[in-house]
Amino acid sequence: MSTQVARVEEKLFQNRYLVDQGKPHIVVQPHTTPSKNLLAMTKICPAGCYEQTASGQVEITPDGCLECGTCRVLCEPQGDIVWNYPRGGYGVLFKFG
Ligand code: SF4
Repeated sequence: MSTQVARVEEKLFQNRYLVDQGKPHIVVQPHTTPSKNLLAMTKICPAGCYEQTASGQVEITPDGCLECGTCRVLCEPQGDIVWNYPRGGYGVLFKFG
């Protein structure tokens, strides 16, 4: 008997996301060199929202954000980012099952 286990990527693909154009709910503050925590987000954000540019800064594209709060915990207290929930009706729509 074999059991099939869904990969996390397949499960995340079931979610839907409504982009609030021009109103990102997470903003990275201007910087020349990213802090260690901000740089770490390029590796640990489960939705892959953070990227490092060729010139070394970290940018965010919050489309697809799962609102897990990891970056909020690691980066907001030290002022690397400003984090809010998306406005009502926008953001992630989780599909379970
Ligand atoms: S809240 Fe979670 S999923 Fe959204 S950008 Fe931060 S780490 Fe990524």
